[in-house]
Parts: sequence; C-alpha cells; structure tokens
Amino acid sequence: MTVNTTLIAPGAEAYDTALAQFDRATSILKLPTGVIEFLRLPKREYTFNFPVQMDSGETKIFTGYRVHHNIVLGPSKGGIRYSPHVNLNEVRALAMWMTWKCALMQLPYGGAKGGVVVDPHQLSARENEMLTRRFASELVPVISPHIDIPAPDMGTNSKTMAWIMDTYSMTVGYSVPAIVTGKPLNIGGSEGREEATGRGVIIIMDEALKRKGLYEPEKSRLIIQGFGNVGSHAALHAIEKGYQVVGISDVGGGVYDPNGLDIKELYTFTRSGHMLADYDQPGVEHVSNKELLELDCDVLIPAALEGQITERNAGRVKAHLIVEGANGPTTPIADEILRSRNITLVPDILANAGGVTVSYFEWVQDLQFFFWDEVEIMRQLTRILHKAYDRVVRFAEEKDVDLRTAAQAYAIDRVAQATITRGFYP
Ligand code: GLU
Repeated sequence: MTVNTTLIAPGAEAYDTALAQFDRATSILKLPTGVIEFLRLPKREYTFNFPVQMDSGETKIFTGYRVHHNIVLGPSKGGIRYSPHVNLNEVRALAMWMTWKCALMQLPYGGAKGGVVVDPHQLSARENEMLTRRFASELVPVISPHIDIPAPDMGTNSKTMAWIMDTYSMTVGYSVPAIVTGKPLNIGGSEGREEATGRGVIIIMDEALKRKGLYEPEKSRLIIQGFGNVGSHAALHAIEKGYQVVGISDVGGGVYDPNGLDIKELYTFTRSGHMLADYDQPGVEHVSNKELLELDCDVLIPAALEGQITERNAGRVKAHLIVEGANGPTTPIADEILRSRNITLVPDILANAGGVTVSYFEWVQDLQFFFWDEVEIMRQLTRILHKAYDRVVRFAEEKDVDLRTAAQAYAIDRVAQATITRGFYP
C-alpha cells in the first residue's frame, strides 16, 4: 500500500536535539569536562551492509546500524527500527536517549539503538524474515545477554524478535531467550510487554494530571499522534480509565471528533489492514498529522516520530500538558516556546520508559527461567514509574528547572557518578 506520509521525516536534527538537551542538562551539573565528553559521545558504532535475496530473485544490499552509546551501568539496551529514513545520526540520538532512560529508571543498563534502512511495508513476509535473519547474523558478534540486548521499535515487532532470537540461538548452538526482549510469550517473552510503553504513558499522564490538580479523566480530552504500538495501547488504556480520545493519527493522517472517537473500533479497523484515512463515520473529521497537533484538547501525546513539535507549531499547541510517547518528538526551540507558554511537558525518557522497564523484567525472567504473572508485572511497572516521576519532580523543584532538564540531568549524573566510582582504565 502506498501512503502519503504527512509526518515530518526525522534526519540529523534528532542528534542535534539530543546533544542540545545534553548540553543544557550538564550545564546544571558540576562534572569534570572529561566525563562530560565521555558521556556525550557514543562508545562504539557499527554499520553493516548486507545482501538479501528478494522474491524476484534479485539480490539487494541493505544498510543497518547498531550504536552502543554507553555501557557503564550494564549491558546496552535499546530497540531496532526499520524505516527508510533511518540514518546513523538518528540512531546515535536514539541510543543516547536509551542511556538516559535506563539510568533514570534505575535499570542496570546502558543505552543502544539499531536500525535498517528499509520500508518494512514494501517487504513480503519472506523478505522481512530473510532481511531480519541476515541482519541478526551480522549482529551476532556485537550482541549478547551481557553485552547488548535489542528490542522492538518502529517497524519491528515480536515476530522480528523471534527471528533474531532464533538466528542467534542457532548460531551459538543453544536457546538464548535473554538475547532480545519484546519476544512472543511462548519463547520467553513477558506478560504485559506489548502494552507496556502505551500503558506507561497513561500511568505517567495520570501522575502529571494529579500533581496539577486536574485529574478528572472524563473531563480530559486527549490527542494522540501515532496509532502504532505506543499510540494504540496508550489510547486503549486511556479509554479504559475513562478519558476521551478526540484525535488520533497514523502515517497517512488523522481523525478527529470533539465528542470522542470509538478507539476500539478504530483499533480493529486499522489492525485489519486499513489506514485511518479510510475511516468514514458521521462526526469524524479527517486532518493531517500537522493539523492534529494544533487541535483543541487537554493533553497531547506525540507517539510517532522525532521532531514533530517544532518552532513552527509550538506556539499553536492548545494542550496544557504534553506527554511524550515517542522518543525526541520536541525540538529544543519548541521546548523553550512551550516553557514560556506554561505548558507542562513530561519528557520521553520518563513518559515512554514503561517499554524498556518491562523489557528489563523480561530479561530478568529469561536469565532466571522463572516467570511472573501479569498482575506482578503491572504492579512492579507502576511502582517503578511512580518512583521515577517523583524523583524527576523533586529534582526539578530542587534545581528550579523544567522536567526534561531534570530527568536528563538526574540520569546523566547517575551515569557520571558510576563512571567516576569505577575510574578510567588503564
Ligand atoms: N524501543 C523502545 C524504547 O525506545 C524499547 C527499548 C527496549 O525495550 O529495549 O524505549
């Protein structure tokens, strides 16, 4: 299916954003220059060019990346993205954000990210499997349950993880479930992992609304950009809690109904292969992704790509609260505009950390061969998210900074102190 993409494609700007945020956060910390420089740069970066035989019989060469940004606190952790727009700078930015996200959540991980330059919608199921298995075999020397643990991200899912787990296991000669997280349940996946990021976004949004004294779900209207793994589970969880979702979008555009959308129907509709642009119901208006961000609502949840809220639209956002489901959806200039307009922004490394937190539970379960039930997963996830939210708010108050700067500074300081305690070798 050819779609008319109305999302702004990310580019090198994501890395500029990550570095600008880093510089702002480290400016409130007293750290040795050498340590700052060490944390600012990725530890190691891999680029792979590899062949895949397509259904036509033709051989195509694909490019893939894996960046290990930091491994001071433990093995690096982060997803693998399949997108035609993936590039090394984007992967560097995403890897860096993973380091801060894991440190903020107090998980024993560093940060990594990977990607393949490919539009997965243009691949047949066989081609997708061949590409994934070949990429996995290229990754074998640089991943392990104690070195680097991949997971799903945009364009990849539990099926992708199953192929990576199988390819790795076949290569080493025994089953290694802990090599990836976000796997299907029957090969060592965790209860609740699929929904974890979206649910986490809503758990964090609840906290933010409570602290603003505005926790009245039935009176709060949400707009969610993105209806993939993060956006869809955030929307489903939000309506379960009594919120109204008035706008939602996918790559082809969005739908808006000020009286609330039927999210369950939209979920079934899109999961049977349709785009939101094909959804036709009385009272439902079609809008572009750009328009969606500026529509009337109380909470805006960007849950798609980087670089969506910029200096071009930040002045027109109507929401009083932004909860970042995506990684890096807001540029530094937009951050400043939103701050000056008193719009509260809960940053990505806190708001979407539910995913990697349940990934951590999955890895622990796989290493111990002992599995928890969904009640336990959700109890631990909620506890960890609440504690992290509290830490960020207290740190923000103490340092008199916004939530993004507080979250990043807290996380960076944690990695910095561990670096200093360990010392540099030799
Ligand atoms: N890709 C997800 C993220 O950006 C999950 C990473 C993981 O579970 O390792 O947080």
